[in-house]
Amino acid sequence: MAEPLTGRCACGAVRYQLTSAPFDTGWCHCRTCQLNSGAPAMVFASVPHGDFVFTQGADNVRRFASSSFGYRRFCGACGTPFTMEVDHQPETVDFSVATLDRPEAVAPGFHIFWASRIGWFDPGDDLPRHDRFRPDTRGLDGTDPPE
Ligand SMILES: [Zn+2]
Ligand SMILES: [Zn+2]
Repeated sequence: MAEPLTGRCACGAVRYQLTSAPFDTGWCHCRTCQLNSGAPAMVFASVPHGDFVFTQGADNVRRFASSSFGYRRFCGACGTPFTMEVDHQPETVDFSVATLDRPEAVAPGFHIFWASRIGWFDPGDDLPRHDRFRPDTRGLDGTDPPE
């Protein structure tokens, strides 16, 4: 990348940088994303583990177990969600695209957990829509999450 992508939280305490280009960008309509964001859905993209680097305020970052197989990190001061890390994909980190300083640089290519979409939320695009995980999600058997 010519210039690393950077991002931050709402209060400005925490800043981060990506040291490689993100991939696998998509909308997630799962219930956890709705609760975590207070919005109908979130957009996540992936980078290799270690390529999402906190450059400021790392000691403000907190985490919670968001499922039986992963956790999410967020700004402990303002609550902005940063990352999702799951046991079955230990080589990557997913981050919330809307927290980038230039979120328009990373566009989503699909929807997952369409089955739990909030009915009044219509993204109005032609992207592929998967009821749960994508069928080719690494480390998962079929399209169901591990219990
Ligand atoms: Zn903050
Ligand atoms: Zn989700």
